[in-house]
Amino acid sequence: MVIGSGVAGALCAWKLAEAGRRVLMIEAGPPVDRLQAAARFARSEKAHDTYPAGPDQPRFQQPDQYFEQRGKEPFTAVYEKVVGGTTWHWLATTLRFLPSDMRLKSLYGVGQDWPVTVEDLEPYYGEAERELGVAGAAMPWLPATYLDKQVALAARKFGYRVEVLPAARNSIAYDGRPACRGSATCFPICPIGAKYDASVHVDKAARAGVALWSESPVTRLLVADGKVVGLECRRGGEVVQVRAPLFILAANAIESPRLLLHSGLPNPWTGRYLMGMAGQVSRALAARPVWPFRSPQVVSGITQFRDGAFRKRRAGFVVSIGNDGWPDGAPPEIARQLVERGFKGKELQAAVREHVSRQLLLVSNCEELPRADNRVSLSDQLDGLGMPRPRLHFALSRYTLDGIDESVLVHARIFQEMGASHVLHYEQSDDPAHLAGTCRMGEPGQSVVDAHLRSHDWPNLYVVGSAVFPTAGTAPPTLTVAALALRCAEMLAKTRSS
Ligand SMILES: Cc1cc2nc3c(=O)[nH]c(=O)nc-3n(C[C@H](O)[C@H](O)[C@H](O)COP(=O)(O)OP(=O)(O)OC[C@H]3O[C@@H](n4cnc5c(N)ncnc54)[C@H](O)[C@@H]3O)c2cc1C
Ligand code: SF4
Repeated sequence: MVIGSGVAGALCAWKLAEAGRRVLMIEAGPPVDRLQAAARFARSEKAHDTYPAGPDQPRFQQPDQYFEQRGKEPFTAVYEKVVGGTTWHWLATTLRFLPSDMRLKSLYGVGQDWPVTVEDLEPYYGEAERELGVAGAAMPWLPATYLDKQVALAARKFGYRVEVLPAARNSIAYDGRPACRGSATCFPICPIGAKYDASVHVDKAARAGVALWSESPVTRLLVADGKVVGLECRRGGEVVQVRAPLFILAANAIESPRLLLHSGLPNPWTGRYLMGMAGQVSRALAARPVWPFRSPQVVSGITQFRDGAFRKRRAGFVVSIGNDGWPDGAPPEIARQLVERGFKGKELQAAVREHVSRQLLLVSNCEELPRADNRVSLSDQLDGLGMPRPRLHFALSRYTLDGIDESVLVHARIFQEMGASHVLHYEQSDDPAHLAGTCRMGEPGQSVVDAHLRSHDWPNLYVVGSAVFPTAGTAPPTLTVAALALRCAEMLAKTRSS
């Protein structure tokens, strides 16, 4: 039984079914019709209205709408509750973790070591890259854009190397999906499926025999005799109980601990060590046109700040070069501002073009350290199903804030070298996209699951997804989520009946 049909759940379900196991995958949300979703995006003012969203999920820039925020800072997570999960909405940057990302404690005396190494994951990283279709690993690299090349010229002055980042986005036709056409809408949706989303493996799983129950939120795991024996979910307005010998929880780093806590499965570490990747967004106006909006939103970046002795005292980070202009400067908004200043007709057209073509954006994602006080617990407020909503405690650490300060210096140097004006470094925050921690892997008594993602307390329960990460690392999480899921499914296919 697999709970959640995001990339973690779908890969497990598919791989187990391919090995001949009977699998039921239960998903809270509805299926997505790609064309309808793309049309909704085209009609909507907000990118985040693209998917069918129920009341019981977080909404972008409304961190209090679903979560109860109790920390020093709001934890502004967003994720989708649909068949295929959040990869519908992701940007698809797929860097591997560095060996040091999993050995922070032994190398730098901070954070925590993982009970697995990058070397252990090597074959599964390769499999994940082939399954997701990573350009730069499973197929040729995507080409750097004109804008990327202008940034690279400026960055070179400081010894910064701009490189194309690996991405689960087709540079050629691959796995029955077309090559990227550069329409710059990957976030929130690729209208043609050139960007990977987990509907790919939901469909493959269905073809391999997996039964899928969509719109069936699981509300409780049922335990007896030291094992999970079944679950309770809502299906067509009814409460339904299902029994199974094995359970794989793949509901993401907020919903998985919420379900465990609500089911009364006691482990003192469940919900603790919530992490994201702090984000520093900076924008400026280049001296000359750099022509954004002609490619995926991010193609290239700078990775050399991920690792070094500095990690004893501050966070590592990756700089991404945005090809999608300013967050607060979409062409209609710029046109509105210019109209207010008296521009009209051809003069207005030329001024919009001039402004938009010069928009520069740099975004750094900074690692966060695990802290027991940053956590998911249960709110007294209930959701529409009568389940406690997630209560979040969160604060950024000095370690992360110092990493962010360093990233501001890098952004500022590049902007200056490009002769840019209108520089704005937005206030730093956690990045709503990347979640980790909350069901960490490690030794019994210090964690929730072991190195094979098996619960220390309930031997037939496995947790897959970034919830199991002991540290957040310096790469976005999903390729590592996929590698761990494939490794777990391979082990289960060899050793257990499911
Ligand atoms: C805007 C954005 C950009 C991103 N960009 C990147 C990127 O460039 N690179 C990267 O690596 N990552 C990125 N991410 C993160 C990435 O999307 C996630 O890491 C990934 O989708 C997590 O997959 P998952 O399967 O673990 O969880 P999810 O995709 O969240 O799937 C969990 C599934 O479980 C279901 N579920 C939850 N609770 C229940 C329940 N009680 N019963 C039944 N089903 C349930 C949910 O409906 C959902 O379908 C981005 C995320 C966002 C939002
Ligand atoms: S740029 Fe367009 S075609 Fe390419 S992956 Fe993004 S949305 Fe899809």
